[in-house]
Amino acid sequence: MSNLIDGKTQAARLREEIGRQVSRLRQRDLITPGLAVILVGEDPASQVYVRNKATQAREAGMASFEYRLADSVPQSKLLDLIERLNRDPEVHGILVQLPLPPQIDEARVIQAIHPDKDIDGFHPINVGNIATGGHGMVPCTPLGCLMLLKHRLGELSGKRAVVLGRSNIVGKPMASLLLHEHCTVTVAHSRTQDLAALCREADILVAAVGRPGMVKGDWIKPGAAVIDVGINRIEADGCTRLVGDVDFGSASEVAGAITPVPGGVGPMTIACLLLNTLQATCRQYDIPVPDDLVSRAWDDAAAEPV
Ligand code: NDP
Repeated sequence: MSNLIDGKTQAARLREEIGRQVSRLRQRDLITPGLAVILVGEDPASQVYVRNKATQAREAGMASFEYRLADSVPQSKLLDLIERLNRDPEVHGILVQLPLPPQIDEARVIQAIHPDKDIDGFHPINVGNIATGGHGMVPCTPLGCLMLLKHRLGELSGKRAVVLGRSNIVGKPMASLLLHEHCTVTVAHSRTQDLAALCREADILVAAVGRPGMVKGDWIKPGAAVIDVGINRIEADGCTRLVGDVDFGSASEVAGAITPVPGGVGPMTIACLLLNTLQATCRQYDIPVPDDLVSRAWDDAAAEPV
């Protein structure tokens, strides 16, 4: 078995299964899950993310509503729009693409989204639910990482996990999810000392620092599972290339399993956004979502220990 974790293929299969569930919801219950995406400003990377999210939502049979606001939009206008979408029965999930321009208080905006429609899982109520192991919306990127890890490794209990990065959107929720899987988790950040030695202890290493190629092969315990969350744009030979936080060349010689960039965590993040939108819709109508949705999508590839 190759040590490559193919997030692109896994995500495509998950999206297909989500599409089947959406189609059932539309036919049987006459409900079309609706995703509203708000983009403020013209950041080129954010525009690409928003376009991909909206396209993939439509491909899965969902209704997609896009709102593009000027960079200079006052916070009150954005909050008014969110309030309107909170009340809109055709909208089941709301996403505000981050980052936001400086005149807008990100925390205030996140708190304005109704927790039931917070498909990014950033609202404090959803953050609290993850921290306490309750049922809530789980942030898409760490959720996608966890799915890839569970699929590849099977049982995670007892494994030593190191999460590089402590952001609210990746590092901290990732650490909580791994803790709930009974891993022994260390969260590292820019003040952590002797990062390389710490990483070498990890059976599971998740890198989310935003530093191109920072994690080298000799930071990795032989056979470890390495999840590279980083998306860094670098200029090489006159063109822009996407690279992760892990030096893939050296790391893939040592790792037992490793995600590439692109084609690893990124596609899973969008698939999990669709999954969260489906789940948010079902919860709003008290319709159960099949527990085995992910295994239905992936069941012919049985989990194998690294
Ligand atoms: P943030 O900038 O919010 O957080 C980065 C974290 O890395 C911080 O905790 C910071 O420490 C830590 N860090 C930075 N430099 C170092 C260093 N030299 N050594 C150790 N720790 C360091 O980033 P995000 O969490 O939002 O994103 C991380 C990466 O993941 C980015 O490349 C981003 O583009 C990518 N990303 C990818 C997604 C996907 O779908 N694949 C989704 C979201 C993000 P400190 O707290 O001390 O400052």
